[in-house]
Amino acid sequence: MRHINALYILLLSFFLVSCENFLKKPPLTELSESSFYKSPGDAAFAVNAMYDGFYELEGGNGVPYLDVLTDLIFLRNSWEIGFFPATNGSLTSDNWWVRDRMWNKKYTYIRNANILLENIDQFRGQIPDADLDNYKGQARTIRAFLYTRLMQIFGDAPLVTKPLGVNDWPGTNSADEIINFIMAEFDQAIIELPVDPADNKHGRLTKYAAYVLKARAAMYVAGFYNRPEYYQIAADALREVVNSGKFQLFNKYQDPAKDFEFLFREENEGADNREILLSLQFVKNEAATENTHNISTVFAGNGWKGIQAHQNYIDMFECKHGWQAHGISFATMNSYRDTKANASPLAGRCPDYTPQNEFANRDPRLNQTFFNPNIRGSGGAISKGGEFWPEANRSFFPDQDNDAYFFKKMVEPSLFYPLYEPWNGANNYILIRYADALLLYAEALNGSGRTAEALPYINLVRARAGMPAVATGDRMELLEIIKHERKVELIMEQQLYYDYKRWREMERTMPYGAVYYGFRREPFGAVSQAMETKYLVYPKYYNWPIPTDEIRNNSNLTPSPNW
Ligand SMILES: [Zn+2]
Repeated sequence: MRHINALYILLLSFFLVSCENFLKKPPLTELSESSFYKSPGDAAFAVNAMYDGFYELEGGNGVPYLDVLTDLIFLRNSWEIGFFPATNGSLTSDNWWVRDRMWNKKYTYIRNANILLENIDQFRGQIPDADLDNYKGQARTIRAFLYTRLMQIFGDAPLVTKPLGVNDWPGTNSADEIINFIMAEFDQAIIELPVDPADNKHGRLTKYAAYVLKARAAMYVAGFYNRPEYYQIAADALREVVNSGKFQLFNKYQDPAKDFEFLFREENEGADNREILLSLQFVKNEAATENTHNISTVFAGNGWKGIQAHQNYIDMFECKHGWQAHGISFATMNSYRDTKANASPLAGRCPDYTPQNEFANRDPRLNQTFFNPNIRGSGGAISKGGEFWPEANRSFFPDQDNDAYFFKKMVEPSLFYPLYEPWNGANNYILIRYADALLLYAEALNGSGRTAEALPYINLVRARAGMPAVATGDRMELLEIIKHERKVELIMEQQLYYDYKRWREMERTMPYGAVYYGFRREPFGAVSQAMETKYLVYPKYYNWPIPTDEIRNNSNLTPSPNW
């Protein structure tokens, strides 16, 4: 598939405007492309290439960056990537990252989908109808996904559904118009897509993947736009997934200390992992030339470590007894906490909590998400022994100049043998998995007032992780529990930033001037160090600005409010 993509992209580059020229042309428009579709094979190539539209950011890397925009993890290096300003509050409307990755990239893939959908019916009769419908369903789903993202990022944005001429200058459509389009398109795609995947590694869209993508969009509309009727739309879509009997939480080892970590491993990315509904596919040894590797491992090994966690997120992992056993409030833990001024919520409550050994007796997902820094010390002298990781036969030494925690989740041990090759990640990146679908289903049911029905689905996810069941009949408390569960289950999976927005949680979790500290030094007789400070103002930071260049080029576009 990667070779096909590369060929297609190479061919496209002769036809399409280059990145540099993009801004000098009327935006969002298409050169005449119909001559490119000479055979059904061309359409197949085009559909394959569209899957890269699922990358949130880079063109070819699996970069799970977006959660640095929450209070959970942070971007370590200020030189890193153009949207660093979005994390600290210095974003402007001419930010190149927003322009290139959030606007241009998404409209480029939308344009390609528009061309395909406009041209593909000429091949009806030449290939089986089911294949042709499948191509359309895939293009339609990816386009609807891209419009979901544009709606989530910009709110109002141009809705372009057909190839445009060079003199067409689209105006801004309301988010409502985009939402109506998204919902109708997912419904049509669900008819067109197959029930079972066409490959053995979850690399192809199915009906069920489209149901989840539709539900995610509906949940966003329900929360962000305060349209509670969309909870029912989401619940209806997710019920199809849950009741299909095709999916189950990965528990191959029947070991809560292992199953969560190993579900992301390359060795478990095949069809027998029934938790996965869709993955981005990576192939070994194509990274150097095509820049198409999964980079999740660089966040762990020696080198970059660009994305790390501060103490705030570590504190969010329950002890093994669960917070309800100790009367700790989920609502409190979902709000901003100054971890320098406040001890762990477990201190003085859980008999098995030791401040000098933060990783002991916790939600087993803590040890499967981060390497244990094994911090020891007294009287201000601190050592960080790091964790020995048998799978990679390697010790992970925390940076000497940094107090934060670094990732184990999605780190691929095969990249440590026989050479350390963090830039050659062939482990697929999961885009949709069943745990997310179950938590969304619970939230959609709860949002529809069916709290008692929602509880079992959360407890399924907790049981796989080895955590005790939660119990509540209170709708607001259950919502706080679900928020918590999503935070510990779904980090780095490109969901949580959009969750925070739809929950309207940004002020609550990231008030202006909020400081986030590294590991808690006070138990060792020292002072905790600040890792980052967020200066985000609201409602401004709930949406990002339509890029200045686009507004300058096209007077039909409306500038984003607040920017
Ligand atoms: Zn406890």
